[in-house]
Amino acid sequence: MSELSTALARIAPSRTTAMTDRATALRAEGRDIISLSVGEPDFATPPHVVAATKAALDADETKYTPVGGTARLKTAAALHFHRDLGIDVPATQITVSAGGKQAIFHALLATLDPGDQVLIPAPWWVSYPEIVRFAGAEVVALPTAAAGGFRITAAQLGAAITPATRWLLLNSPGNPTGACYSAEELCALGAVLRDHPRVLVMSDDIYAPLRYGAGAHATLAVECPDLAQRVLTISGVSKSHAMTGFRIGVAAGPEWLIRAMEKLQSHSSGNPCSLSQAAAVAAFEGPQDFLAEWRERFRARRDMVVAAINAVPGLHCPVPDGAFYCMVDAAPLMARFGDDEALCLHLLEHGVALVAASAFGGQAGFRISFAADEARLAEALRRIAAALA
Ligand code: GLU
Repeated sequence: MSELSTALARIAPSRTTAMTDRATALRAEGRDIISLSVGEPDFATPPHVVAATKAALDADETKYTPVGGTARLKTAAALHFHRDLGIDVPATQITVSAGGKQAIFHALLATLDPGDQVLIPAPWWVSYPEIVRFAGAEVVALPTAAAGGFRITAAQLGAAITPATRWLLLNSPGNPTGACYSAEELCALGAVLRDHPRVLVMSDDIYAPLRYGAGAHATLAVECPDLAQRVLTISGVSKSHAMTGFRIGVAAGPEWLIRAMEKLQSHSSGNPCSLSQAAAVAAFEGPQDFLAEWRERFRARRDMVVAAINAVPGLHCPVPDGAFYCMVDAAPLMARFGDDEALCLHLLEHGVALVAASAFGGQAGFRISFAADEARLAEALRRIAAALA
């Protein structure tokens, strides 16, 4: 008999964090490893955010706060949802958690029962299917391909919905593919969803500031306001403000769902870290002008990665429209390596940590996070080419 619960036995550890931990351990042993595994901006957290954190510590903001975040942060998050995503919600429809990941975890656990189905466009972010399985529900993959911009179509969605469907998980810009849905595409998905009132939609917009294409960011709660009462929009400061370690995510959605998430949070972590909340207020309310500069640097890195990878025989890298990942197809190399995990181990031996595409429900390839400084990125690309020569 397993010592683990059946719920835990259903899931696997996060392969993004596992590879990152492995790279850190190898570096501690003295190995020269460049990690392009985790999605974590290398930029320094903006100084005004650091200053606000120190000020909160000096002001003894070291005690419990309300479970779903301070009133001050909820107000600042409402400003963020309005200014950056076009979503107008009162603070009562916002909750704060320890990273977007915890908000997603609580929303799914609060609403899923065994027998429910959750539609997830694949390739997907590693934690989506694991959280769904942990909750006892069934993952239904909606396969996408590079040729279709890694986006699902309305027809595909319509064909996948059953009476058991509880959630559709959308992530735009998407991790790991960079897929970005246009307003028209979201409206087409919305037209399908209108016929299925039981289906909730999670719109994970954490990468919204990082769009490189011509169109503006579009999000379901804005494009289909009549559906807003069943859309949960996820955002945060980790990616936009280089604040991954602070662990602050924010969610906006219908009040019943926000209260349900807070009920669960009251028994899991309780409130998010008080100092991190003060930092997030500064992030949302302070200057945003550095973002344009960061975005341009990410764009240049993306172009560097795409050009270098496409010059390596056996690799193909489509151009991502958003976020800071490239999804590299390495199918021609599978005859040599067997599977993409073996390929990633080979590349790790050559000093570059990457996450296999299979971790994301993709196949025969790997994800490159280009949120690393230009010199390290260039050296990693040189190592990849040399390792596969
Ligand atoms: N979301 C980031 C990634 O995909 C951070 C690690 C994680 O939580 O998966 O790399």
